Amino acid sequence: AAWDRAVRRSATPRRANGMSVLVTGAAGFVGFHCAMALAARGDGVVGLDNFNAYYDVSLKRSRQRLLAESSHGHAGVLVLAGDINDAALLRRLLSGSGAAFTHVLHLAAQAGVRHALRDPQSYVASNVAGLVNLLESVAAVSNSSRPAVVWASSSSVYGLNDNGSNGGRPFSEEDRTDRPASLYAATKKAGEAIAHAYSSVHGLSVTGLRFFTVYGPWGRPDMAYFAFARAIVAGDPVTLYAGATRDFTFIDDVVRGCLAALDAAKKKKLNRVYNIGNTEPVPVARMVAVLEKLLGKKARKRVVAMPRNGDVLFTHANVSLAARDLGYRPTTPLDAGLRRFVDWFLRYYKIDNGAAAGGKQQPPAKRKK
Ligand code: NAD
Repeated sequence: AAWDRAVRRSATPRRANGMSVLVTGAAGFVGFHCAMALAARGDGVVGLDNFNAYYDVSLKRSRQRLLAESSHGHAGVLVLAGDINDAALLRRLLSGSGAAFTHVLHLAAQAGVRHALRDPQSYVASNVAGLVNLLESVAAVSNSSRPAVVWASSSSVYGLNDNGSNGGRPFSEEDRTDRPASLYAATKKAGEAIAHAYSSVHGLSVTGLRFFTVYGPWGRPDMAYFAFARAIVAGDPVTLYAGATRDFTFIDDVVRGCLAALDAAKKKKLNRVYNIGNTEPVPVARMVAVLEKLLGKKARKRVVAMPRNGDVLFTHANVSLAARDLGYRPTTPLDAGLRRFVDWFLRYYKIDNGAAAGGKQQPPAKRKK
């Protein structure tokens, strides 16, 4: 059928020994960037996304369009509309389409911790049942041609400790993960156990990556840095949680981590989880100060005590395991990464804020302030 042909075309690598990767969540923030990077280096990519309305669907459609128009693939990267819970669809993609996927980069999930207070079942459906369905479909591929799986867990599995700072130590993979502070974290923790079971029973190659607060261009509007940028521009109040500190990790570093994990999984089964962070925790208040500088406008700050809504007070990654096994090294400081975000943000929303424009120099006459 035409469908199978389109899938095969997009899945075909254009370099010798290239990979063929099914990227779930490809219209999402991290999935979009990974799909772009894979196509740019000549790997075959097919995306899958259900385009749900958790946040602005037009942003997801724009990412899909950019992938389709990317000149890296001959005919661009195909992002199919479909759900990871659709067993027939996944079986057809992985076993019936004739596309020989070497890898699955599984990034589709219900993200965000606060939304679980409103729609808890969406987390179970996508992050638990959806993961099981995906791994079942991979296990159903004949042994010799089974794709390796790399999937997104989360730093949220580390949860909170009593003083919220992990005793000043970065989190490493051996640390406790038995006290999730949100349903989101609980489903990611469950996902890690499920992944382990599938590698144990079916011999699947499954590598988990615990991302630490990813930010950058084409980011998620529900995340704090993005919402703060919008609020600052609009002159709306910005609510800060006292003491909140995050290991903000720039998207390009996360993409490098994902590609390194895919490459490593090609050579040998790793079957474990790795921290993918920046290793430099920054108070959220300082993140806001950088945004103020880049946007050329002061935030109307309101500092409140941390509520029990699923957020954690502190994250900080120890990435020595990922450095050892994957050669992962974060390279982007927060100021440089936020500048890239703000440049994109102003362009995408056609915001003309004169002076700021990501810190570029403008003639004084054009400045609003
Ligand atoms: P995102 O919401 O932008 O991307 C996820 C995509 O998956 C969305 O486009 C969504 O439409 C799609 N999706 C959701 N449920 C689906 C389903 N059932 N079937 C098909 N598609 C579905 O989020 P993101 O920030 O790109 O996150 C990617 C992955 O990384 C997620 O697994 C997330 O939990 C994890 N993660 C992200 C961060 C971060 O800071 N962004 C941190 C830790 C972990």
